[in-house]
Amino acid sequence: MNPLKKIIVTGAAGFLGSCLTKRLLAEGNQVVGIDNMLSGRESNIAKIRNKANFTFIRMDVVSQEVLTLQPLKGAEEIYHLASPASPKFYQAAALDTIAVNTIGTKNMLELAKANGAKMLYTSTSEAYGDPEIHPQQETYRGNVNTWGPRACYDEAKRLGEVYCYEYYHQFGAGVKVARIFNTYSANLRNDDGRVISNFVNQAIRGQDITVYGDGSQTRSFCYVDDTLDGLMLMMEKDSATGEIINVGNPDEYSVLHVAELVKKLAGSNSRLTFHSLPKDDPKVRRPVIDKAIRLLGWKPQITLEEGLIRTIDIYRSQLSGSDGGERA
Ligand code: NAD
Ligand code: UDP
Repeated sequence: MNPLKKIIVTGAAGFLGSCLTKRLLAEGNQVVGIDNMLSGRESNIAKIRNKANFTFIRMDVVSQEVLTLQPLKGAEEIYHLASPASPKFYQAAALDTIAVNTIGTKNMLELAKANGAKMLYTSTSEAYGDPEIHPQQETYRGNVNTWGPRACYDEAKRLGEVYCYEYYHQFGAGVKVARIFNTYSANLRNDDGRVISNFVNQAIRGQDITVYGDGSQTRSFCYVDDTLDGLMLMMEKDSATGEIINVGNPDEYSVLHVAELVKKLAGSNSRLTFHSLPKDDPKVRRPVIDKAIRLLGWKPQITLEEGLIRTIDIYRSQLSGSDGGERA
């Protein structure tokens, strides 16, 4: 079978990148994945590594060399996902995080321009910072502290968006920007540090569930399948070109509620313990998804409870070794 399209995925060995790559391959596309393994892992791509339609290149997308790579030539679509996303990882590599979202994004836009390809950039709800407007719609300009530990991620993503804006307006590049809200599944690393990965792994091991602050801060959690549907629709639809679109689940929960729900669903005896709240931790977060509904006909289908049950089951089978230790 001839591949449908040649598609580049940066961050292909990460959480979302590896799940996306598997979906694109399953549709019959040819995928070139690029990753420097800053927060990715080999096991995420082990099962597809030898597939005929998949090429993996270990490289930093900040490097100029990426613009000269032969396998990238003729790509029709670029999903630019490279960037650590967990506060634990991006704060440990702050300068790399700034570079990948700015210079790395510019490089991918150059590739898109040279190939006449469409490009989707994965920005973040963090572009809204610690929001003063609730819930957040795309027109809200955000409240980000430039002088703090989250700025390397938040401000770099915002500048990444600016690069997308300029390439769209100056060169007519087929750019789309997704502001993704907290997405999860058992494909997150056990040591990823983000809340669902921490809580579920702690609950199934009988360890203390570590709530930061009093747990009254809120987030809106989207199961990976829903987020990927949204991203792929954005790539497909011309209506999303030149647009920023929130991709997230509008159901909002406090972190304390999530801790109690995970404990209950996992049938765990873990204790909840309370720890200091990280600096600049946003107090609330919930997307308005009217634009996604209007332009893409997309809205999430999987409830938090359903997604957590799946996540707990899979992490548990990984722990017992019954799934061979590798995610499908
Ligand atoms: P992740 O950390 O699991 O994956 C990111 C991948 O990018 C890793 O494999 C990492 O090694 C790779 N990478 C980092 N810097 C690179 C570089 N310079 N060159 C090449 N590869 C590099 O994160 P994720 O959760 O899969 O997030 C993917 C993208 O989606 C990120 O851009 C992130 O900001 C965005 N996003 C994710 C969420 C979420 O909830 N998962 C929310 C908002 C935005
Ligand atoms: N959090 C928590 N315990 C943990 C990890 C995170 O209480 O073990 C909180 C964190 O302080 C934040 C929320 O959960 O309020 C979501 O954190 P995460 O790192 O997953 O993503 P963020 O939305 O902050 O980027």
